[in-house]
Amino acid sequence: MSIEQLLIDYGIPYVVKGSGHSHATPGWINIHCPFCVGERDFHLGIPVKKPMSSHCWRCGSHSTANAISKILGFPSDKIYNIIKNYMGSTVVTRRGKIEPRVNIYPLKFPQPFGTLNTVGKRYLESRGFDPTELISQWGIQQTGPVSFLDKISYSNRILIPIHWDGELVSFQTRDITGKADRKYMACPLKREVINHKTILYTSANNQKGWNRYPALVVVEGVFDVWRLGPCAAATFGTSIKMEQVLALAKSHDRFFVVFDNESQAQGEARKLAVKLKALGKIVFIETVKTDPGDMDQSEADYFIKYLLGGNQM
Ligand SMILES: [Zn+2]
Repeated sequence: MSIEQLLIDYGIPYVVKGSGHSHATPGWINIHCPFCVGERDFHLGIPVKKPMSSHCWRCGSHSTANAISKILGFPSDKIYNIIKNYMGSTVVTRRGKIEPRVNIYPLKFPQPFGTLNTVGKRYLESRGFDPTELISQWGIQQTGPVSFLDKISYSNRILIPIHWDGELVSFQTRDITGKADRKYMACPLKREVINHKTILYTSANNQKGWNRYPALVVVEGVFDVWRLGPCAAATFGTSIKMEQVLALAKSHDRFFVVFDNESQAQGEARKLAVKLKALGKIVFIETVKTDPGDMDQSEADYFIKYLLGGNQM
């Protein structure tokens, strides 16, 4: 059954017997055939016990690795190994049914918001950042002392727009009072154009330029990206979703993972490295004294130079 887990983890839609779909047969798991044109209706059946070759009701037999490779856009020899690994385990954790999301609520920032005031600027300066530079490079703003979105309070926070593929898709906020229960609060799910946990933090312009760098530096949070610069991308925390692994894999072939220097984060860094390596990527794990975001700017610049070589800032 663990071919099913692979399809779940990599976000490939499928049907099984019992799901009420006419193409579902006992012992088989069906996905959309990537080889035939026309209506996509779960024509490609994968035998769950012997999943290496599959059969399309329309266009015949295929190597399952080739089919999944075509769907995900990764080399089929890598996919072959991934299938083999998944067949080694027997536990399936099915997620709740994912409903197609129709975005009836437009993306909106908490109201009111505006340019950074002295409190916001002082907060960023206390963390060793130049507010003017963050405003111009990352488009950050600030919420007021009373600021709401959908009846959720976003008072006194740095407002951080999130872009993906050149489009504003969500936002993150960071408390500046030190008194809020939640340091970080993102856009409500129903207003996100794309769920931020499926993408990476970068700026609209940076993402296009990632191939300029010999590697992409993967960090946990927005402050880490601000510190390390445009060659860095953040995963919004250490619980990394498979969609984010795929987003990384599509963005570059070489990675330095620089998570916070504590055991939980380093454990997640190792898991991320394993997943990226399974997709044929080159991955190195690096650590700094504390969090990348807490480094001195000169220290951070030197670190990036050490990782990427030459003048990469
Ligand atoms: Zn087909």
